[in-house]
Order: sequence, then C-alpha cells, then structure tokens
Amino acid sequence: MLISLVVPCYNEEESMPLFYREASRVAAEMKQSHGADFEFIFVDDGSRDGTLKVARQLHDADPRVRYVSFSRNFGKEAGIYAGLKAAKGDYVATLDADLQDPPALLPKMLDALLTGDWDCAATRRTTRKGEPPVRSWFAHKFYQIINRMGDTEIVDGARDFRLMSRRMTDAVLTLSEYNRFSKGIFSWVGFRTKWFDYENIERVAGKTKWNFWSLFRYSIEGIVGFSTAPLVFAALVGVIFCIAAFCGIVFVAVRALLFGDPTSGWPSMICILLLCSGVQLFCLGIVGEYLSKTYLEVKHRPIYIAQETEADRDARRH
Ligand code: UDP
Ligand code: MG
Repeated sequence: MLISLVVPCYNEEESMPLFYREASRVAAEMKQSHGADFEFIFVDDGSRDGTLKVARQLHDADPRVRYVSFSRNFGKEAGIYAGLKAAKGDYVATLDADLQDPPALLPKMLDALLTGDWDCAATRRTTRKGEPPVRSWFAHKFYQIINRMGDTEIVDGARDFRLMSRRMTDAVLTLSEYNRFSKGIFSWVGFRTKWFDYENIERVAGKTKWNFWSLFRYSIEGIVGFSTAPLVFAALVGVIFCIAAFCGIVFVAVRALLFGDPTSGWPSMICILLLCSGVQLFCLGIVGEYLSKTYLEVKHRPIYIAQETEADRDARRH
C-alpha cells in the first residue's frame, strides 16, 4: 500500500525541512502499524526563495521525496492539481507545508478509509484561533452565502487537508477546469466523506500568502465557479425594476390627467436615474464576471507548466 502526500509549497524553504521531519516520523509509525509506504510530492509553485533547492536536497537524501517545480507561480490550486497528477499512491493526501495540517492525523484518517465505508477523510477547523476576527467574520459569511446559492455544499472551516482513495483522486483529476476552486471540486465529485475536527494550528515558520483581497477574489472565484445564482439574481432585479417603473408610469399618467402637469420632481428624477444605472452596471458586472471566467476556460490553457521534476534531476545525474 502506497500513500502519496501532496504538498504545495510557495516560498516555504523554512517549513519544508520541518514538514519533512514530522511527515517521516508519521510515515515510520504507519509503516509499523499499517504496513504503508510513502511518497512525498513537493510542488514548488514558482517560489522565489530556496524552496526548489530544499526539494532537490530532500530528494537526494531520500528517494521517497519527489517534486514538481513550476515555471512561475500558478497558485495553490494548480499546485494541488499537479501533485495529484504526479501521485502514484493507492491513497493520496493533500496538506500544507506549514504543518497547519498535522500529518499526525493521517493514521486515524487512513483507518476510516480502510473500513471501506468512506472514500475520503477530510478535516475541518473547529476554531479560527489566531486569525483576525474580521477575517473570520467574512469567512463565515462567505460560507453562508455560497451554500445558500449553490447546489454544491461547501463546508465551513473545511481545510484542503484530505486523504482520498485512488477512485476519488482520479475523479478529481477528470475535472480539468482552469479556474480551480478545490473546496468546490472535492465536494462536487461526491463520494462519502468522513470529517475530522481539529483546532486551528498556527504555521511553524514563514508567513501566510493570503491577504484580505486575495481571499475576497478567491471567494468570488468559488461563487462564480459553483453557482449561477448571481445571474438569476441579476435578472430578478431587472424584472423588479421594470415592474416598479411600470407602476410609476401609471401613477404619473393618472396624476397628470387628474391634476394637470406642474413641472417638478427633477431631483427625484436624477436619483432614480442614478439608482437604475447603478443597478444596471452592477448586473452587467455580474454577467462580465461569468464571461471572463468562460473566456479563460475556452482558451484551454494548461493549469500549470512544470520546469523541473525529480525525474529530470535523476536523468541528469545518471
Ligand atoms: N501556496 C502555494 N501557492 C500559492 C500560495 C500558497 O502553493 O500561491 C501553498 C503554501 O506554500 C502552503 C499552502 O499553500 O503550503 C497554504 O498557504 P498558506 O499557509 O499561506 O495559507 P493559510 O494557511 O494561511 O490559509
Ligand atoms: Mg497555512
């Protein structure tokens, strides 16, 4: 039985050795308890620090370590995709390099899959300790909104830390879309998922790659990727404004017939004009968001471009 650990890394030279140490410890334990072999796949997402160098060193010291290095930063989602594609394991796990996803949970997760009742063991944070309260609030709101709008359930607090069967991994790989929102993709492919809760752990070294705006963009990506409800919303607002306008016309016409037509109401006219054109632009923006995603999708660009893998390194040495 082979277990692949897929680890997306962007500027993680400090965390990687720590991750490797902890993961090898768990791997040795699981060799004993489950007879499981491991491979570690580090995906260097176009890092600007020594991440690639560390990956090469780890591979030289331990052939279980494999790596894929991107030609530039393609984002974590692309990293996960590349890692899943490279993975050869019967079971495949995705985890962060910063040890916020504790490898120590893996034995319990594997036990769940081995019962045959589940195809995926996923994890969920029960707390958001150590995170700015504003960020937590927006995160909660995002999950509320996306779950109300879409058919695909996105679990609040779900991490990208999962252990999947080969079946589910292959299913995830068949979704080769360019705009990848992993939380949605994992949920969309279905299969029975067992959830494990744990408390938030802060990263061991380095800094988070996310700020408020990148998270905001990410949440819009999730909504546009997995729900078309905003388009229906735009159409609905249009209908409501048409009805309101029609009522207004009738009211104004009747009033003019009954009481004559004194010219007044210019300021209110301007307000209404501004409101209507605002709503129009807003709805146009929603449509534009979908159009831009469609545009990126139809270009069929590759999700990532690899510039070096461990196979290249081995080939050069022999
Ligand atoms: N990551 C990546 N590419 C990126 C940004 C992040 O591969 O463009 C990786 C990063 O190295 C880490 C994981 O994704 O292993 C999660 O990133 P981070 O810890 O910064 O996010 P947070 O845990 O704060 O949500
Ligand atoms: Mg992290």
